[in-house]
Amino acid sequence: MCQRRRRLSRKSIASSPAMPRLLNMGNELARCSQGRARVAWRRWVMDEKAVGFTLEMPKVGIIRGVKAKDIEMVGGKVVNLRTCARPYENIYTVTQLRAIQGVSKKYGSGKVHLSPRHNMEIPEIKNKHIDEALRDLYVAGLFPGGAGTSVRNVFTCPDWCARSVRPVQAIGKMVSTNFGDRDMPNKFTISFAGCPNGCSRPHNTDVGIIAVAKVTIADQGCPDGCRECAKVCPVQAVGPTEGRVKINRPACIACGRCVKACPEKILRSEETGFKVLIGGKEGATVAFGAVIAEFAKDFELLEIIESVLRKYEQKVTPRLAGRKKKERMSEVIERLGIAAFLAD
Ligand code: SF4
Ligand code: SF4
Ligand code: SF4
Repeated sequence: MCQRRRRLSRKSIASSPAMPRLLNMGNELARCSQGRARVAWRRWVMDEKAVGFTLEMPKVGIIRGVKAKDIEMVGGKVVNLRTCARPYENIYTVTQLRAIQGVSKKYGSGKVHLSPRHNMEIPEIKNKHIDEALRDLYVAGLFPGGAGTSVRNVFTCPDWCARSVRPVQAIGKMVSTNFGDRDMPNKFTISFAGCPNGCSRPHNTDVGIIAVAKVTIADQGCPDGCRECAKVCPVQAVGPTEGRVKINRPACIACGRCVKACPEKILRSEETGFKVLIGGKEGATVAFGAVIAEFAKDFELLEIIESVLRKYEQKVTPRLAGRKKKERMSEVIERLGIAAFLAD
């Protein structure tokens, strides 16, 4: 058995009030994770002989911590635990927040940090309590994650934002289900923005996906004095000229704000799609993504992302000769150029 796997005592698990729920969730998770070897480590597995559970220690989500001065070390190291719901829907329920609060108070120092990609980081948990902490989080549907060389949380805007061109949380969840936690040569990030405002930072993400609107103009004149569309356009690309509205198409960023503002429904958007950028990055060095699709449809996205992941896996090399650490995708694109990166 893997050295990192720890067995919880039969007594402690069997007497747990959460036992029936654990069993249900274990079965549920086993079903939803079929065919995804990567999630095996985060599964509570029923061990029929021992009539208990075994917890395979995660490879990601446990970050070596620095001992805070005000923490009394009783034994073992102190670790930070990153946790998140899977597949990630860009939402934590109140139950999950309570579980995080409980773990932090019981096994940590009462602090919680929200990472830039929405992982809840619970700092200063002692190694000897890590099993209990993981168990308590698991009961609330939370798993370790958000660290290491894998596809990180698929990040989306909230659907209720008034500016969104279209909802993105459901499609983000679908992408998370398909690609979340996949082993990669280096960290890999995917972000969805509900409109070109880009609050989820799609321009500086390995794959950035931005919802865009196809705006059409009805064959109809505008009422005198109306300039509602011109008032809301963030790039001054639309407005009436001699009683008819005109759009400066090269300047338009397809945000759809003029459509929402038009009182006469002269401006319309009957179709939405996604602009896709690849090769963006944040960190010590910053890179902006290159556009590879201007108006991709929902059903094309999985194929585009799979193709980009494969090209990255095929063309990546170590950062330095003889070293283990591999390039980020932005570095591969910078080295080869976008055309060679995308070529078969
Ligand atoms: S990117 Fe657009 S939809 Fe998303 S949060 Fe910002 S303004 Fe709202
Ligand atoms: S879609 Fe946005 S950028 Fe384009 S014309 Fe309308 S308001 Fe301006
Ligand atoms: S397109 Fe709509 S919002 Fe713009 S000027 Fe005409 S009626 Fe007004």
